[in-house]
Amino acid sequence: MKYVYLFGNGTADGTAKMKNTLGGKGANLAEMNHLGIPVPPGFTITTDVCSHYYNNELKFPDQLEEQLLEALKSTESIMDLRFGDPDNALLVSIRSGARQSMPGMMETVLNVGLTSQTIPGLIKRSGSARFVYDAYRRLIMMYADVVMEKASGLEPKDGNGIRHILETKLDDYKNEKGYTQDTDLSGDDWKKISDVFKNEIELNLNDKFPDDPLEQLWGAIKAVFISWNGERAKNYRKIENIPDEWGTAVNVQTMVFGNMGEDSATGVAFTRNPATGENKFFGEWLINAQGEDVVAGLRTPSPLNEDTKTKETSHLPSLESSMPDIYSELNDIRGTLEKHYADMQDIEFTIQEGKLWMLQTRVGKRNGSAAIKIAVEMAKEGMITKEAGLLRVKPEQLDELLHPMLDSEAEKSAKILTKGLPAGPGGATGRIVFTADDAEEWHKNGERVILVRDETSPEDVHGMHVAEAILTAKGGMTSHAALVARGWGKCCIVGCSDLQINASKKELKIHGELLHEGDKITLNGTTGNIYKGELDLIDADPDTHPEYKELMVWADEKRKLKIRTNAESPDDAEQAIKFGAQGIGLCRTEHMFFDESRILAVRKMIFADNEKDRRNAVMELLPYQKKDFMGILLAMKGKPVTIRLLDPPLHEFMTLDEDQQIELSNSLGIDAEAVKSRIASLHELNPMLGHRGCRLGIAYPEITEMQATAILEATAELIKDGHDVYPEIMIPLVGTSTEYIDQEKIVRRVATSVEHNYKLKLNFLVGTMIELPRACLTADEIAKHAEFFSFGTNDLTQTTFGFSRDDIGTFLPDYLERNILPEDPFQSLDINGVGKLVTMAVDYGRNVNKNIKIGICGEHGGDPASIQFCKENGLDYVSCSPFRVPIARLAAAQAELK
Ligand code: ADP
Ligand code: MG
Ligand code: MG
Repeated sequence: MKYVYLFGNGTADGTAKMKNTLGGKGANLAEMNHLGIPVPPGFTITTDVCSHYYNNELKFPDQLEEQLLEALKSTESIMDLRFGDPDNALLVSIRSGARQSMPGMMETVLNVGLTSQTIPGLIKRSGSARFVYDAYRRLIMMYADVVMEKASGLEPKDGNGIRHILETKLDDYKNEKGYTQDTDLSGDDWKKISDVFKNEIELNLNDKFPDDPLEQLWGAIKAVFISWNGERAKNYRKIENIPDEWGTAVNVQTMVFGNMGEDSATGVAFTRNPATGENKFFGEWLINAQGEDVVAGLRTPSPLNEDTKTKETSHLPSLESSMPDIYSELNDIRGTLEKHYADMQDIEFTIQEGKLWMLQTRVGKRNGSAAIKIAVEMAKEGMITKEAGLLRVKPEQLDELLHPMLDSEAEKSAKILTKGLPAGPGGATGRIVFTADDAEEWHKNGERVILVRDETSPEDVHGMHVAEAILTAKGGMTSHAALVARGWGKCCIVGCSDLQINASKKELKIHGELLHEGDKITLNGTTGNIYKGELDLIDADPDTHPEYKELMVWADEKRKLKIRTNAESPDDAEQAIKFGAQGIGLCRTEHMFFDESRILAVRKMIFADNEKDRRNAVMELLPYQKKDFMGILLAMKGKPVTIRLLDPPLHEFMTLDEDQQIELSNSLGIDAEAVKSRIASLHELNPMLGHRGCRLGIAYPEITEMQATAILEATAELIKDGHDVYPEIMIPLVGTSTEYIDQEKIVRRVATSVEHNYKLKLNFLVGTMIELPRACLTADEIAKHAEFFSFGTNDLTQTTFGFSRDDIGTFLPDYLERNILPEDPFQSLDINGVGKLVTMAVDYGRNVNKNIKIGICGEHGGDPASIQFCKENGLDYVSCSPFRVPIARLAAAQAELK
């Protein structure tokens, strides 16, 4: 079996298509060779080796060593250097690379091959002891951290890791000598530091830093494989849904150096602006630096070109003006890569003594707004098809455009603390926390937090995930914080050098202003402004985004599913129409009963002990309900509106404290004890399975009669006024066709009388919510009478699993953690189980009533995977909350294309 794939010198064993075997990084390094792009030569060890390693008690396959040494030889001959050779030593980097990029989650070790044997020769060749010893101390630090500590399973407490110990030693040395910057240190200084480091390693890790190049090489390779199962990589995979079985590849690649003087440099770039989507080459670079310096945010990098300079970066030198020839070569590569991959790329490059080398290319992460702009523009440029453009945008990414922004009026009068680089747009407000663990803790207690750090590292992702926004003192637009936030569509500000963070004291100083953990701040991720206190956020208006509008037009052309919304007020309805809703799929009516002016009538109704009193009480509600329905029907402008009759258990209207009970007994003229005992009699052990849904209308037909009257009279009056209205009356929680027939009869009778009184013909439907397994099993019987089905998948999930949605918090987290359930079934439809019932009910229903209209309401209506399922099952529409309507529109189009 082939375990090792070579690349270099314009050829390669692999291609971009081999991501599963070579990982993303390895596959693209191979591909760049095929494209004639200069890449330092090397080889990729396949993901199969990773699987083998884990399946065989951490042992490598037998043929690996031979294949690796062979590949090393080829690399040596391309470079005319030899690994471990005293005169002409080859140095390599050991880089991880999974199928799907996991930025910074796994390990990389640079400068492998530096030993007491190879150092003198390298000093001679490079002419700089400083350069060589600087590289050496970096190797020692990385190796100790990654190979000797992490990969050996040592887990020192926060702050006691070997990396921290070595960093402290370096700081001590600098203080002693009065140095302030790394550039102040000479070759001799770095040599001494290297010795200090090696000593500390022996002291703390009881082991020696290896002086044998092959030992270093194998150690680093193993460490990268082991980092696949590191805590943070595992966490990241969980969040991103990356399977554990994939494994990582390992790339061994000739080192090139961006820190060999003023004609050397390093940088990262995006072929288009990842924050806005603008078609401009966008990146950052540092002269005389190694790659990690840009990403780690240790020095503030300079902009790549003149065009993308901002007020804050205008004084820094661009690559374009400093090294015009190299910039132009890089710009050509940008064009080649974008054309070849037909997508925005994220690239790493290093310039060694005036020669450009490409170290990485991958599809660049972008935020939602940029994703839309890039997809639409590339489709218009003819680089991709419209269909591909539609598939490029994750439905969830639209969320950002619908997300709140800071109220610009509030910003004007707010106290601006300072400004940083705007890395993730939108507004956010929350309480300051200084560590990822604190972020998680505060978040658990229901607080919105903003994570404030000098810089973030992959160890922080769990805290970044729960934070409203991320704010860092260091790093640029391509720093870890910016990259991760962008992937999640989160508000983020980076490189804010005015922040003086004291994480151990949990304090933050900005221009003399002292802030503590828990203090509120507000970020504007679009401008980079940071404000003291909590500012108002306002809803976004996606209609101001031209490419969004265009993409939605394309989506509407492609999709066949209709998209409705769940709304219960005219405001919600209008918002939803703005977002493109084609009707209301679920208008609940219970909240209409809770209004202060009405609740008394409801309670009177509950207390009535004869039909006449009950009817009188219920009919008090009629004028209110009628007004409610007129408002909603009018707002929907002739689009269908599904109104569900009263659903919740009665006791929900009767949660009263002592005082309220007395008040009620006074206003009803009923004895206080009687009130108490009636309330007690309404108590149910399992209200979810109790007296609710159509069971209410069956016990109290007056309720159904009043609601039907309100809906249909509202309809009649609007028709009279020349409006187009189209109500669909939905009977909830039906389990037998007889229940349905009982309730339908009341509605039909009311309709006849309304038509008679208003002398007109009503256009309406009567149907039911399918939310019990028995309704699915007998859907054929029900469909003989019902004109529509709407799957209430929340209750259907509850009753199919026998899970109470309200009590699921006690065990679901454990279920998800241990993979007993792949996902929360209340968020994404359980296709294997609940889905089967849906499929069955659709079949049964359509068999006897081929024109029956079928939709879904409930949370799943806005979930892309569930929408795909609805499309496959031939549903007519999905219904979701107003803010998910655009997401559902795109997901429905994608469902047609997949
Ligand atoms: P990540 O997955 O975190 O991007 P990389 O494998 O890309 O990790 O490496 C981390 C840093 O080291 C990057 O800045 C990269 O450019 C640099 N680097 C990796 N290999 C080499 C090499 N052969 N020569 C020079 N720099 C390298
Ligand atoms: Mg990289
Ligand atoms: Mg329900």
